[in-house]
Amino acid sequence: MILEYELRDDALVWIKSPVTGVISYVVDVRGKSFAFTLGGRDELKPDPPPLEPETLHNAIRACPFCPGNEHQAPPESLRLTPAEFPGWTGAAQIEGAGWVIRAFNNLFPRIPEALTGGRNESWVVVEDPRHFLDRPRSINDLTFTAALGERHFLELIKTDVRLMREIFANSSVHSVVVRKNQGRESGASQPHPHQQLIGSPAPLPAVEAEVRAQHERPGWWPELLELVERLGLLIERDGPVVSYSSPIGAFPRSYDIVMPDYHGLLVDLPEVDLQRFARALYRILRILGPLPLDYEIHQDPNLPLHAHVNGRLYPYSNVAGTLNLPSVLPQNVAALRKALTRG
Ligand SMILES: [Zn+2]
Ligand SMILES: [Zn+2]
Repeated sequence: MILEYELRDDALVWIKSPVTGVISYVVDVRGKSFAFTLGGRDELKPDPPPLEPETLHNAIRACPFCPGNEHQAPPESLRLTPAEFPGWTGAAQIEGAGWVIRAFNNLFPRIPEALTGGRNESWVVVEDPRHFLDRPRSINDLTFTAALGERHFLELIKTDVRLMREIFANSSVHSVVVRKNQGRESGASQPHPHQQLIGSPAPLPAVEAEVRAQHERPGWWPELLELVERLGLLIERDGPVVSYSSPIGAFPRSYDIVMPDYHGLLVDLPEVDLQRFARALYRILRILGPLPLDYEIHQDPNLPLHAHVNGRLYPYSNVAGTLNLPSVLPQNVAALRKALTRG
């Protein structure tokens, strides 16, 4: 046994992350109230006040990621045009759109430029020109990634790969992370759907810790996959790609998408596997829909390629290096699997 955990009557009691050392304890939280955490979310109220068109226009006018405001953002590095994406669902909604996806430098670099050869290697990838959903009923009816569709998400990941090639052309960059925040509860600073790509001189600490764990306990990931399957936490398997509800995630509702046998970078992944990886990630996003979430794609030559998705609606309760996992997790995953086969 490489992982540290305890089972009683075939149910998980606790498990320790080999990466962070955090221990997740499985507890019954069915009687616990989430009213405070979920309170104050206007979009959950059944009848929001009627929306003034001026309110929408003002939000769009003020958004640096909306079409027409391109001059408010740093110069563009690359774009995907509607002509390059014939199936784009926004064509009818946004007439004469010049772009579907576009990338430019983040105004606020995550890593000082001096550390990456004098170039800002923090990037923003705007996922779509549409700020609001079709026929929004509230100012919170924002476009979200799952609403864009699976094909669109694949185009987004392919655009990330194009951008990554440019970032890796900077010889002082040795690692790139993809990050997404959706919803203000996840810490998103802009409502318009976008991702971040961050190029860094060395693997960032989360990836570095995973490389260290991989080195100290080779084989922990395959063992985790066996365990999640046994516990009923496996979501889907598509060729070399596996997704599961993680008992060692950063949040009580965390999902991983992993390619256990592919140790490498997105830019080197064959197209067919890139599609499978993007699809598996998209399917988790589709289940979460407009809910607040974050995800990161972690890549390193010494690690299985993977992504972490965190559902952020629930209270975050890391207490002194411990988390609580709801004991109903396997039932949740069973419901999730069912929803995926229906869709
Ligand atoms: Zn916008
Ligand atoms: Zn990771």
